[in-house]
Amino acid sequence: MKYYFKPIVVLVFLFSITTYSQQKTKPKLIVGIVIDQMRAEYLYRFQENYTENGFKRLMQEGFNVKNTHYNYIPTETGPGHTSIYTGTTPANHGIVSNYWYDRDLKKNIYCAEDNTVYLVDNKGINKEVKYKNFSRSPKHNLTTTITDELKLFTNNRSKVIGISLKDRGAILPAGNMADYAFWFNHNNGHFVTSSFYNQELPNWLIKFNDANLSDSFLKKTWNLLLPIEKYRNSNPDDSPYERIYKGKEKSTFPYSLNDLNAQNGGYNLIMQTPLGNSLLTKFAEATIKGECLGKNSDTDFLAISYSSTDKVGHDFGIRSKELEDTYLRLDREISKLLKILDREVGKGNYTLFLTADHAGSDNPKYLESVNIPGKFYDPKKIETILNDKLSKDLGVKYDYITYMNNTQIYVDYHNFSKITVLEKMEIYLDEIDGIKHVFAPTLRNQSLNNSLIGSFVKNSYNPTNSGDIIYQMQSGWMSRRAYGTSHGTSYTSDTHVPLLWYGFNIPKGESVNYHRITQIAPTLSLMFNIPLPNTSNLYPIKEIFD
Ligand code: ZN
Ligand code: ZN
Repeated sequence: MKYYFKPIVVLVFLFSITTYSQQKTKPKLIVGIVIDQMRAEYLYRFQENYTENGFKRLMQEGFNVKNTHYNYIPTETGPGHTSIYTGTTPANHGIVSNYWYDRDLKKNIYCAEDNTVYLVDNKGINKEVKYKNFSRSPKHNLTTTITDELKLFTNNRSKVIGISLKDRGAILPAGNMADYAFWFNHNNGHFVTSSFYNQELPNWLIKFNDANLSDSFLKKTWNLLLPIEKYRNSNPDDSPYERIYKGKEKSTFPYSLNDLNAQNGGYNLIMQTPLGNSLLTKFAEATIKGECLGKNSDTDFLAISYSSTDKVGHDFGIRSKELEDTYLRLDREISKLLKILDREVGKGNYTLFLTADHAGSDNPKYLESVNIPGKFYDPKKIETILNDKLSKDLGVKYDYITYMNNTQIYVDYHNFSKITVLEKMEIYLDEIDGIKHVFAPTLRNQSLNNSLIGSFVKNSYNPTNSGDIIYQMQSGWMSRRAYGTSHGTSYTSDTHVPLLWYGFNIPKGESVNYHRITQIAPTLSLMFNIPLPNTSNLYPIKEIFD
């Protein structure tokens, strides 16, 4: 008997190795988490009040790529989400900022706008006039995303879903072939999609919306999670440069959404506070269960983008009690999300990355108060100066600036040659206080290779969508705003973001080497044999864990 038994044992053993290795070449689910406006330092500045099961679980059990940066301007939400998921920069994917000027249509374009589709809510396609401006799709992204490539590779068997409170945070990561992108409709507090994906919402979502969770959130009060003396890593609660909600006299806790929502944007107020992040975790759970993510034979992909962090940063700034509390609460949301994934998909069955779409800078008035150089400027004033000088110099009074924002200038050359107008503008811009870099990429493309900022401009400049001039102020300078903060520059305050990897196939450790945000998508490609996004920058896989 003994002699018969042995070969069978060996065979069974060999068979189990084969099936094991087949099963274990890919995760059941890939989860991409983007935290809107998260600076890398928040992992450490607020750490003393984090739990063991949120950010710290990812840092201790996963891989921390500590020196990850954006490498183009402007560092904004639309370009950020697109660059993470395409593995390339605006020069290729075309999402050059949240808004740009369309020279053919002669109007401003929003990065996720698409007038050929409709908003889809509980009633199906909604053609009401008030929703006309909510037509959304990823059609302005000119390239494939890692999510598209997964769909193509598995012949559409993988499920791909993007969720966020912001439409662009859900749509741009989910890509062109997604099953759905879902986002928050602040008119009624429901999650919606676009007819680009489907003519109606899935049943589980209709039920989720009918429960009107947002209404119960609107009755809540945002107070500090912990006793105030624990908040040692932010300025006093009543600091200046913070938004004061209508109906309040100071920018201090508590914030009763019940009292404040009528005067401060209704359901929008949920998104402006950390309650928006809690709502999104609940929605993530409903999505994972409703769509049975991670239960298929092929890898599924869930792209989550937490938006409230950006709103709180813009309203209260990066050193406010409000922001510190938002991150302590987000840490608990990440902990909940990981528990949901462990339960629904299984620990070790999913691969997760967490990063941000850009970081955020200090309010210049605050910098001034602590003797660090910083100043507000007004792009409108720069526009007036340019128009006046050109009109005088060229002898024709005319509006030479078609559109201008914090980094881009779109020029109308009138009857003059492009070279004449752009060269004059470069000189005028150089004379303006606070302007540090001026580039006219169509005039001098070669010089872009000579400096770091030049390489940023090269990565940014898309001939169809970008401005004729790309410019940047000195560090610490920001477009004037009444309170809070912003982002958009090429300085580390806006480029340095967290990048944490966790789960199936991820080694434990950390790296301090310089990494680019565009390394995320190709790393996923090479790790799980998903084809590279079609204009992805090429990086060896080992590099990111090095
Ligand atoms: Zn953003
Ligand atoms: Zn923002």
